[in-house]
Amino acid sequence: MAIHEKSLIRPENLKVQDKVVVDGVDVSGHWSTFIQSRVVTDYNEALEEEIAALPGGEHIHRCWQCGSCTNSCTVNALNPDFNPRYWIYLIRTGMESELLRDKDIIWQCVSCNKCTYACPRDVEPEGVMKATAHWLELKGHTQKSKSTLFDEEFTEQVIATGKIEEGRIIRNFFARTGQPLLQDWLVEMAKRVARRLPFKQGLMMGWATLFRPRTRKWAKASAALSEYVHEQEQRNRKALRIEERA
Ligand code: SF4
Ligand code: SF4
Repeated sequence: MAIHEKSLIRPENLKVQDKVVVDGVDVSGHWSTFIQSRVVTDYNEALEEEIAALPGGEHIHRCWQCGSCTNSCTVNALNPDFNPRYWIYLIRTGMESELLRDKDIIWQCVSCNKCTYACPRDVEPEGVMKATAHWLELKGHTQKSKSTLFDEEFTEQVIATGKIEEGRIIRNFFARTGQPLLQDWLVEMAKRVARRLPFKQGLMMGWATLFRPRTRKWAKASAALSEYVHEQEQRNRKALRIEERA
């Protein structure tokens, strides 16, 4: 049978016999390439359930493995190892250790949603990629990605003040990710903005940076949002059987 996705075969599992003769016919080299058989014993039978419990992963059970998501994927066009169809297959069959071999590239999904438009089963593969990246972080298989750290900073600021102050977000995001604040592109952007910014608006931005204003009567909304976020975190951790935080 033809091998359609040869990139999925680990090189160490390909066995080529230099010299094989069958019934007097020389089948050496290309004709005697075999894939080493293997036995998987460490299935995580709850894997699909765990991914489905996270936001975005809800429809993973609908996948019928047509491959349209991978065929249309922006990142797969650059890196054939980025393969949403294959990861969905691994998740649905509980092959956690195989999935973990790709843990360092799953987060690279750029959320273009081409896969979501191509999918005939409304699996929403983009959501499944997000849920899988989130699962990897929650289970401690990967560090929090920069996009997660940015989302956290953004969310914390909204909950605390009911407002977004871009300068503070960038400053805190850089601090969380260990980046220097004075980066050439940022300094250049700030100079250009400063040149065009009306004086009054510049003054208001400076004031907001220094004094961190809040939306009026925000306290109740802030408490409700905090409670909701906490509930969702606890729900996710419970679904993944992670010890609950106090
Ligand atoms: S959303 Fe992610 S998985 Fe889907 S096509 Fe874009 S990069 Fe690929
Ligand atoms: S396009 Fe949809 S149904 Fe097809 S393999 Fe991808 S997720 Fe599964």
